[in-house]
Amino acid sequence: MINLSDPIERSKLAFKIKQDIDNASQAFLEENEPRKHLGASIVGHNCSAYIWGVFRWLKQEKHDGRVLRFFNRGHLEEARFIKWLQLVGFTVWDVDPQTGKQFRINGVNGHFGGSLDAIIQPPGPYNITQSSIFLGEFKTHNDKSFQKLKKEGVRLSKPQHFKQMSSYGKCYNFKYGLYLAVNKNDDEIWPEIIELDFALADDLFRKADSIINSQTQPPKIAKTETYFECRYCYLAGICHRGEEPEKNCRSCIQAMPTENASWTCMKFNSVIPDEVIIKGCNSWERII
Ligand code: SF4
Ligand code: SF4
Repeated sequence: MINLSDPIERSKLAFKIKQDIDNASQAFLEENEPRKHLGASIVGHNCSAYIWGVFRWLKQEKHDGRVLRFFNRGHLEEARFIKWLQLVGFTVWDVDPQTGKQFRINGVNGHFGGSLDAIIQPPGPYNITQSSIFLGEFKTHNDKSFQKLKKEGVRLSKPQHFKQMSSYGKCYNFKYGLYLAVNKNDDEIWPEIIELDFALADDLFRKADSIINSQTQPPKIAKTETYFECRYCYLAGICHRGEEPEKNCRSCIQAMPTENASWTCMKFNSVIPDEVIIKGCNSWERII
């Protein structure tokens, strides 16, 4: 039995609780398989090789319990953002009333997509005469990122978020979006009304199409691992040190993305069942 009157025992117990929560939350939050579609949140990444590597499942990025909780906090925060907007009279749709699911965009034979945080309608007192329906995007920030956002705005300080919103706006024909950010340090909020860029969205769709349909690795952002984006990239071993990709059909040279989000094996000339895609077969040949 632990002697709770002993401060060392108490501290050991607290440490064990921390470890247990880290392990349990990792098991609870970890996804069993990588995302099937190329997400609109990723296609704006600076490195095309990265986007392709994620889409082709070259390697599954692993996170410990702390990092997964950190990501999860962003999702959980969405309910709070919605509450604040409703308190000042906004109408907020976070799911499609017809399907009960999040509003989505889809493209490139179902291999490209993303989910909208919300569609929102400002109340009368804001006196908005143009389109009264907005795209809503909710993001949590650490203090440094939040201060940069306030100073530079979304387009400059968070270009990936801006691109993601422009893609959603283009598909739903929303010319404007409300980007609502919160500073995790002190709960300060920062709304920005953004004019979305449909031409940029078209570029992103073209980029998604070309990356999804590429059977070879698109250009890397740098030739050496010392470049700052590569230093923190989980694909650096594959890009710069000859590491073998993980085995599955999407990392196999014989697999091609085909219609209705399916994958076709050129060697066996057939659509690949999901349970095979995840593990590949004995004829697997690395694509890179
Ligand atoms: S390691 Fe560098 S070049 Fe390779 S995917 Fe990552 S960012 Fe791109
Ligand atoms: S079924 Fe085999 S050969 Fe075909 S794509 Fe998958 S791993 Fe490659």
